[in-house]
Amino acid sequence: MADYDYIVIGAGPGGATAASLLAHDGKRVLLADKNPSAGGKMMTFHNGGHTYELFPQNLIPYAPSLFERLSETVGKPVRNVAAEIDDKVNILYGDRSGKVHLLDPKDFKTFKAIGIKGFKNTLQTVLVMLKLLKMKPKKIAALEKISALDYMNGLKMPEALRVFVTASFGEGAFEMTSDKVPAAHLVRIFQTSMDSKKYPTPRYYEGGIGGFFDRMVETVTDNGGKILWKTRVKSIDTENGRVVGITTESGEKYTAPIVVSNAGLRQTVLKLVGESNFTPEYAERIKGLQSNLADVGYRFFTTQRVLQYSTYVYYPYNCLETWADFEEVRDGKKKPTGNYIYIGSKSVYPTISPDGEKQVIYAVMSAHPDPEQDITPQLAYIDEKLKMLFPKLYEDGIIEKREIMGLKEVSALGVDKLFDGQGGESYGIANSIGQSDGDRPVCNLPIEGLYCVGNDTEGFGVGTHRAVESGFIAYEKLRKYCANQVKL
Ligand SMILES: Cc1cc2nc3c(=O)[nH]c(=O)nc-3n(C[C@H](O)[C@H](O)[C@H](O)COP(=O)(O)OP(=O)(O)OC[C@H]3O[C@@H](n4cnc5c(N)ncnc54)[C@H](O)[C@@H]3O)c2cc1C
Repeated sequence: MADYDYIVIGAGPGGATAASLLAHDGKRVLLADKNPSAGGKMMTFHNGGHTYELFPQNLIPYAPSLFERLSETVGKPVRNVAAEIDDKVNILYGDRSGKVHLLDPKDFKTFKAIGIKGFKNTLQTVLVMLKLLKMKPKKIAALEKISALDYMNGLKMPEALRVFVTASFGEGAFEMTSDKVPAAHLVRIFQTSMDSKKYPTPRYYEGGIGGFFDRMVETVTDNGGKILWKTRVKSIDTENGRVVGITTESGEKYTAPIVVSNAGLRQTVLKLVGESNFTPEYAERIKGLQSNLADVGYRFFTTQRVLQYSTYVYYPYNCLETWADFEEVRDGKKKPTGNYIYIGSKSVYPTISPDGEKQVIYAVMSAHPDPEQDITPQLAYIDEKLKMLFPKLYEDGIIEKREIMGLKEVSALGVDKLFDGQGGESYGIANSIGQSDGDRPVCNLPIEGLYCVGNDTEGFGVGTHRAVESGFIAYEKLRKYCANQVKL
């Protein structure tokens, strides 16, 4: 008799979702994580009265929120503090002359300021918006092998619109350059994001994002399972081609017929189970998977309120960088010039900041995921733009503390770095052509009883949403698998 029905490695959004759903079904679950609490890369910190994550968590989960579906399913209600204030997303467009315009994608009049005016321009804009909004699923599916950039370049529209739509719904949503993201994904996320009635944003929960998952995984102990914090799993053990349990770094062994790993697909296959347990073709495929982009920048702790709203995104007119551009910046061959910057804070929400005035502010831009690169040029770019956009931040006495949001802290909280040039990616395996849709890695791995959840398998959309969806998909697959094949 095995010690547990399921072992889940990792309490990131994907692992926490799978563990809570399985435990809620009355199964005995062992959940082990190397971190001291849940949330993975979105683990919540409590410092000086601030509740915050190390990295921004922009606009997600959107509704219908899978976070809320999870909390309702396991019967652990949460408070969406974002709904308690008047919040909005602020789009700042920097035109060729350097002038910055505040756009409201839902207020067409604001687009006049950036040159979308006159009959021809306006008509083109309306036609493009309608085409994207009204596109039927079959037509969207036909765009799975063309890049978002190529597709958008083929449509007639004013340049400012192309930059805004491609950068926000391609690179912005998937944290991957729009020459790699399939056009189908851009259209799908555009449709969900623009339907503000069906998908109102933003959302943020009391206790933070990690705090949300801490609450969800209480379901494990409520149902007779166990959680091991600060416990690194060294191996996933197999016998006769099927999973039998895990061994922790300190040598404890736990058995279960099914192991669900949230430790990243590459780490799971190549390190925890071991390459020799898979076919050479499968191992090669896993090694060849491309990572998504990283984010680098600053976390500012301020003495006063600087941001009125939770979210600002600055798009310069030349904001359509390709993967090759990011490689060149990493290699020091060019400096960043055409990147969007996300500036945001959760401190505007009730109960998140010590006095409602002090703020934790993120200012970040995309970067190549190689953690060994020198990010000084990116930091200089952010400083230059921030001084122009939010001069108050740089006034005397405003910044109490400034932390650099580097690439090495990403894998420290999330999944181990395995290869050169990889490790800082903000999600994991990129949703890029060749590894998205039908080509996307599935959560049931080719070893009996082995599953992988999180950003690397299945799921759709922006990071945490995608990871939670992966947890739901794995849970559904496991229910079917257990009903048909194994006696637990
Ligand atoms: C800079 C940055 C910006 C981001 N911005 C956004 C955003 O705006 N919106 C958004 O939705 N998402 C954003 N994300 C992405 C979000 O953090 C991820 O999508 C999400 O955390 C991925 O969840 P996951 O389940 O795949 O696992 P992870 O978060 O990677 O968690 C994996 C878990 O597994 C554990 N683990 C790994 N190996 C082991 C082991 N050997 N033994 C035990 N435990 C192990 C880890 O400790 C961790 O808890 C951002 C991330 C970064 C870094």
